[in-house]
Amino acid sequence: MILGKHIAVVGAGIVGLAIALRLRRDGFRVTIYDPMEAGSQTSAGNAAIIMTSQTVPVAEAAILRKLPSLLQKKDGPLTIRKMHLPALLPWISLFAKNNTRKRRAEISEILKPLSMNSFSLWSDLAGPYDTPRHFSQNGLLYAYKTRKAFRAAKLDASIRGEHGVPYEIIDREDMLDLEPALIEGLEGGILYNDVVQCLDPRKLSDAISGLFRTSGGEVRRLAVRSIKPVDRNTVKIVTEEGETAYEEVIVAAGIESSELLAPLGTRPKIASERGYNLMLHEPEMSLERPIVAGEGRFVITPLEKGIRLAGTSEFAHPEAQPNWDRADRLFDQAQELLPELDGEDNATRWCGSRDSTPDGLPHVGRLKKHRNVMCAFGHGHMGLTLAATTAQLISDILLKREPLVDIAALSPERF
Ligand SMILES: Cc1cc2nc3c(=O)[nH]c(=O)nc-3n(C[C@H](O)[C@H](O)[C@H](O)COP(=O)(O)OP(=O)(O)OC[C@H]3O[C@@H](n4cnc5c(N)ncnc54)[C@H](O)[C@@H]3O)c2cc1C
Repeated sequence: MILGKHIAVVGAGIVGLAIALRLRRDGFRVTIYDPMEAGSQTSAGNAAIIMTSQTVPVAEAAILRKLPSLLQKKDGPLTIRKMHLPALLPWISLFAKNNTRKRRAEISEILKPLSMNSFSLWSDLAGPYDTPRHFSQNGLLYAYKTRKAFRAAKLDASIRGEHGVPYEIIDREDMLDLEPALIEGLEGGILYNDVVQCLDPRKLSDAISGLFRTSGGEVRRLAVRSIKPVDRNTVKIVTEEGETAYEEVIVAAGIESSELLAPLGTRPKIASERGYNLMLHEPEMSLERPIVAGEGRFVITPLEKGIRLAGTSEFAHPEAQPNWDRADRLFDQAQELLPELDGEDNATRWCGSRDSTPDGLPHVGRLKKHRNVMCAFGHGHMGLTLAATTAQLISDILLKREPLVDIAALSPERF
């Protein structure tokens, strides 16, 4: 019998939580493991956008041409710590292979249904009471200072438009009507009308965790030391308290996931792409919707309690000392777009690791050798967006339903 199977989920970030709740609703017995508070790691500090418009991979091939300068510049939107480079080279090589025009088009075909259905799957999961409490749908505005960047953005928007993503090109003279707090004289913008934002990512995790518990799910505040597949129907979770047997295990431990799987003879490819945020608790202004600083490549998101400046990419070991200048600099860059922005003095800084894959698609599915161990990580820039979608895919696999996309394209062992 499928229903009633006992399943362990490793990791209570937003991805693990969404999976745990989905499977509980499907009638499985579910235990979630995490030594940390639910949603307190990468899932806490993100830019809070449900990127329904992201039908093309976030990373661009042009990065490869810029590699030598990325190694020199510590303050650009994208940087690589020199010490981290040798470990990163195999990932970079796979990234290059997956960034040809042809591969990007193929990847978009998979990403498109995942992104475009993401909010409707979130609404299903959170339900009619919690959805309006945690999400708002006012669109996402990309703002550009330079003609060159605006021109490139229009091209990008037209590709997404062909995928069915709604958008509007906002000319220079209309920018202030849309967002009165913006500085005058910007070149223009792109408004992705349907994009949704979360009002407080940490609160969303708490809510999903609460729904999971009240539906009868079990939470164990323990680190998983290892995963021991026994046979087709049994896989053991090992913690400091001993071993517990389950019928299936789902690994959703974010950046830690690959290391956890290594003793099983597989190491799904992810790189630690760190990001930063600067949380302004007293910004002294409000915004109609989140804004992407087109050239700076970070997001200015109005949250329930303040404004968050979040983004940038720094390929570095997850435990490396953060370079807090990267977070601090976001304030000056945001002020170039929003001159009234305030609150730098008591702002708080945050750094966290994205688990980025070379093709920008997550690792979702069973391991080839150990069929009762499943992966649900590698969401990179899009884990908040895709958490409920991945939960649906995992549920489809377990219940043998036709998934939203060809699941082979997300195989953790595809590289
Ligand atoms: C600056 C920044 C901005 C971002 N903005 C956005 C955005 O706007 N929209 C979007 O969709 N995405 C965004 N992201 C990405 C998003 O935050 C992540 O993809 C997402 O949070 C990943 O969730 P997760 O549950 O996989 O990982 P995590 O939140 O890191 O959770 C993993 C959990 O696993 C636990 N764990 C690890 N090892 C073990 C173990 N051995 N045993 C038990 N538990 C373990 C950890 O304690 C942790 O709680 C952003 C990321 C960054 C850094």
